[in-house]
Amino acid sequence: MKARLIMVGPPGAGKGTQAKVLAEKLGIPTISTGSIFRSHISQGTELGQLAASYIDGGNLVPDEVTDALVRDRLSQDDVRDGFILDGYPRNVHQVSALDQILSDLEVSLDGVVKLDIPDEAIVGRLLKRAQIENRADDTEDVIRHRIEVYHQETAPLIDIYQERGQLLQVDGTGTIDEVLQRLVQSLQDFLTR
Ligand code: ADP
Repeated sequence: MKARLIMVGPPGAGKGTQAKVLAEKLGIPTISTGSIFRSHISQGTELGQLAASYIDGGNLVPDEVTDALVRDRLSQDDVRDGFILDGYPRNVHQVSALDQILSDLEVSLDGVVKLDIPDEAIVGRLLKRAQIENRADDTEDVIRHRIEVYHQETAPLIDIYQERGQLLQVDGTGTIDEVLQRLVQSLQDFLTR
């Protein structure tokens, strides 16, 4: 089943994890802006250095940088019929930028998956991930700031997709497998509705 999807949700909701397993199941690529930035950071590219100066403080990388990166990736052949965007769009401006990119490519979105998880669960999950992955943006202060940025910048785009009738909400609590099963089931219902 190929589909063009966006995955949204607060930091620590498991977007990256679910995007990966779902993409494998559907046989489509994931495009994760966060991991693209992290790979540039670890390779020490110019883009990586610029991105790090924002990411390390829990702030968003400037829109023009992120928009260009996504436009470039979405223009490649392997994502023409299906993809999961993880971490983009992340603010209202990026919603319009994505609209433009997709319309230039003459394709349309099939759905926006929102992974729900209570705020209390987020900090714990992220602190645990910090121990495993050693991410510079997973310290408690930066995590709290990222949650704030999410509520201020990212949460409003959920209303936009809701109004467009493209939003699908999925409970993100439980094990990876439980969430995946729930996700696949609601996605099938949603896409064939
Ligand atoms: P999480 O969802 O856990 O916060 P991500 O890996 O998605 O982690 O993102 C990590 C960081 O990368 C963000 O805090 C932000 O600085 C940067 N980033 C990722 N996607 C975007 C985007 N669409 N626009 C701006 N910055 C982004």
